[in-house]
Amino acid sequence: MINSCTHILGFPRIGKKRELKKALESYWKLEITQKQLLEVGKKICEENWKIQSESNLSFITVGDFSWYDHVLETSALLGVIPKRFLESDNKINIDTLFCMARGQSLNKKEHAACEMTKWFNTNYHYIVPEFSKNQNFQLTYNYFFEQIDHALSFNYKIKPVLLGPLTYLWLGKTKGDEFNKLNLIENLIPIYNEIFRKLKDNKIEWLQLDEPILALDLPNEWIKKFKFTYDNLNFHDIKILTTTYFGSISENINIINNLPVHGLHVDLCSAPQQIHSLIKNFDNQKTLSAGVVNGRNIWKSDYNKIIDQLNILKQSFSKNLWIGSSCSLIHSPVDLESEQKLDPEIKNWLSFAKQKTIEIKSIEIIFNKKNGYEKNLQQNKFDIQSRLISKKVINPSVKKRISDINPKFYHRDSNYEERSIKQKNLFHLPLFPTTTIGSFPQTQNIRELRKKLKEGSISNELYTQQIKEHIKECITIQENLELDVLVHGEAERNDMVEYFAEFMNGFIFTSQGWVQSYGSRCVKPPIIYGDVFRAKAITVEWAKYSQSLTNKPVKGMLTGPVTILSWSFVRDDQPTKETALQISLALRDEVLDLEKAGIKIIQIDEPAFREALPLQKKDWEEYLSWSVKCFKIASCGVEDSTQIHTHMCYSEFNDIIHAIANLDADVITLECSRSNMELLQAFENFSYPNEIGPGIYDIHSPLIPNTNFIVMQLEKALQFIPKERLWINPDCGLKTRNWPEVSKALKNMTEAAKNLRRQF
Ligand code: GLN
Ligand code: ZN
Repeated sequence: MINSCTHILGFPRIGKKRELKKALESYWKLEITQKQLLEVGKKICEENWKIQSESNLSFITVGDFSWYDHVLETSALLGVIPKRFLESDNKINIDTLFCMARGQSLNKKEHAACEMTKWFNTNYHYIVPEFSKNQNFQLTYNYFFEQIDHALSFNYKIKPVLLGPLTYLWLGKTKGDEFNKLNLIENLIPIYNEIFRKLKDNKIEWLQLDEPILALDLPNEWIKKFKFTYDNLNFHDIKILTTTYFGSISENINIINNLPVHGLHVDLCSAPQQIHSLIKNFDNQKTLSAGVVNGRNIWKSDYNKIIDQLNILKQSFSKNLWIGSSCSLIHSPVDLESEQKLDPEIKNWLSFAKQKTIEIKSIEIIFNKKNGYEKNLQQNKFDIQSRLISKKVINPSVKKRISDINPKFYHRDSNYEERSIKQKNLFHLPLFPTTTIGSFPQTQNIRELRKKLKEGSISNELYTQQIKEHIKECITIQENLELDVLVHGEAERNDMVEYFAEFMNGFIFTSQGWVQSYGSRCVKPPIIYGDVFRAKAITVEWAKYSQSLTNKPVKGMLTGPVTILSWSFVRDDQPTKETALQISLALRDEVLDLEKAGIKIIQIDEPAFREALPLQKKDWEEYLSWSVKCFKIASCGVEDSTQIHTHMCYSEFNDIIHAIANLDADVITLECSRSNMELLQAFENFSYPNEIGPGIYDIHSPLIPNTNFIVMQLEKALQFIPKERLWINPDCGLKTRNWPEVSKALKNMTEAAKNLRRQF
């Protein structure tokens, strides 16, 4: 009989009702004590373990809980605390962690917060470890071991989880003198060895050691360090499961075979094709843990498909084949049973974290043909089938429109040069036109209005009338500031994806489907379950109204297809690019309706364009080809004289600049301020042909840029971009700022534009 242990890589720590979020925020406001906060964390851990235990998983995963972020938790465990956060007694406690993450201690002392960045290609953000040249590592913070003691007190059979040493180093950044952080591994190994020894004292049999960087295109020197590192680790007879996720490890199998570890976990949801190279090349004396239940999506697993995969693997791994989640379940919502209002037919197709633990056990029962397996399999077949044939999913007219797409859909009538002449004649904008990215401050008043509308305590008419007042005020302020291209301010939008998704068919919304984004912040991604189309115009009335208030052009403002897709849960019953095409057609309809309504400038935001890039370079071109095409399908139906803008906010463009150019937007506005305009070098090197608005100040900071500073930024930008093609704007939307800040900053910005125009 095959030993098929069942396990998950981690469970959401935010709590079924976002208890952790609420407790954290109360604690930071000094409304509850630390003891009360710790109690909430304890309860969540206990609840999570109970779920795994009741699902009869072979192991309860422990050590996955963290107060803010698991990378930050690892930094604390290893003693990687930047000096500025250390109190005189050098003691580390959870307040130290919060201060690192938030830049503010409980007594309101300010420190520069640690950086935060995206966890691989997910929407989760981690706190970036900071390493100094002679970084010392030491075990000073005990929470990891406290979790283990706590779980052991229930007599659970546990499998602790820890970030592996190389992935941990990879995720960090160096501070101060330049040096190669990889060299720190020698200082880090003894600390890991000390951890293993302590785990041994706790009679731990298996440890999950996460090394997801094995699924990246790693530089050679990092790959090589794996062998050295693992040979020097002393596991004290604890069995190590090296865990990978989010991609294929095919290229690194030989490296992994040579590591003195006992097992490997692979993600068969994001990279099912690696099954073949595993069979061929992975050492079958080791344990293979198959990540077959998708931790990053919300669909019920198709047991038949999974059993097929496991049967293929069984031929080679006949001794130890484990069954698990593809990655940690922190990327999926906690419990489907919290959803009281979902369409029952669609709800029956879904599975959240709790349900996934049950699925894993069911798959094991079916795989090993244990008692009652047939009934379980039959029910699953029925559920999967019901989704495949549902009229809610399939819409033949959408399919027809997709098959009718031809190259005319994704090319403008003329090239940029010809278009720009027509646009210049139409708009008569000054040199260095000024604009903003779209949103203006979302005041308390605006948020309350939206809340009241949702609760039904105000009528639609009253809501519309009041939002119109806000738009009017926003337009007047922009006119007074003498901006050249205006926006309506996005007061009617809660969020840039949900707002559009609510008007498109094929999306459904949960009430409790929260997923941690960072710290106490959660997002509630919409679910795309069926063919997408736009039933009626979404933004046209607002846009028309806004344009009626002024003679200056007001931009129509849309969210692009890749961003809508990336910030939703996507279908798994058709290729993602098919869903993307459907969203692009819906947006194309909106773009054309805006144009018909007299909107001459339309901006399609794609902030997620880069983050959606696959982890491995070999997969980039395929992604870029469909994502660029989708943007063009959305944008290219308009006349030459209609100006298309796009906005992206991140500062690494070098390697995808050709794709950005292929989008052929007339104007692109970018986040640039934090990179000091240097990223524009890439645009110059590429001879980027269209217009660019590099963000000239950082909207994430409350600091108000003065006119001189802005002029200096612009002079830098002019080294890379010819004056005829340079726009002036902040680096992102202004919704998180307050009005006094925004007015002053924009005033200085338009002053700077005037100064510069005088010089040219
Ligand atoms: N138009 C959006 C805004 O201004 C863009 C947001 C973004 O780039 N994330 O808020
Ligand atoms: Zn932005």
